[in-house]
Amino acid sequence: MSQKKFRRVVLKLSGEVFGGGAVGIDPDVVQGIASQIATVVRQGVEVAVVVGGGNFFRGAELQKRGMERSRADYMGMLGTVMNCLALQDFLEKEGIETRVQTAITMAQVAEQYIPLRAIRHLEKGRVVIFGAGAGMPYFSTDTVSAQRALEIHADVVLMSKNGVDGVYTADPRTDPTARKLEHITFDEAVRENLRVVDTASLSLCMDNGLPMLVFGAEGDDTIIRAVNGEKIGTLITA
Ligand code: UDP
Repeated sequence: MSQKKFRRVVLKLSGEVFGGGAVGIDPDVVQGIASQIATVVRQGVEVAVVVGGGNFFRGAELQKRGMERSRADYMGMLGTVMNCLALQDFLEKEGIETRVQTAITMAQVAEQYIPLRAIRHLEKGRVVIFGAGAGMPYFSTDTVSAQRALEIHADVVLMSKNGVDGVYTADPRTDPTARKLEHITFDEAVRENLRVVDTASLSLCMDNGLPMLVFGAEGDDTIIRAVNGEKIGTLITA
């Protein structure tokens, strides 16, 4: 897989990255991400983005603090849309045409999710930013990334992660013997219970033969390197 340039990708960006470690949006960080995406779009790669919302709300965390889970999850999904609009803004400033499509209808700010229309936008060189997750509680934006990648026929799902630059044999923050893995199979990832990506997204990719690259968001060219198929992060294949 390395050295191979992808034709169409789904890039997952976590909300944590957008917030630069805090609640809300760090414009400098979002500008940096937009500039990297603009570079690969100019190289001719079709880019769809799924944006997380952990910099605003996570349903499971609000549930622990007493909220009803589904309502909290809807708050989480709405948070992702703010990130989408921020990314859209900085991409447009880079001169890149964009469309935001959301899984919860909000006509004033975004198109609704229409897969065939998303594909058409990509073919025209527009970046499509998917917001509001799947529009369903109890799902994660990691899972949605795999689903969207399958539905729009992307070559790969690129999972950028905050604070970790790939899949390790153990948690590198607590275990000094942890080793980074360059390549693993979905089977191994699920069996070893490696927690970097959620199991639902791993099994969707596994069942449908869609490769996934897990890589670190830190750095000013990591997205470019991932899209260009460079040796970065951990590649997970069937
Ligand atoms: N969420 C949801 N359904 C979805 C996607 C997201 O309910 O299809 C909610 C869920 O509460 C989640 C929050 O939105 O915690 C933010 O998404 P996620 O945690 O995946 O964002 P990330 O961790 O990538 O920033």
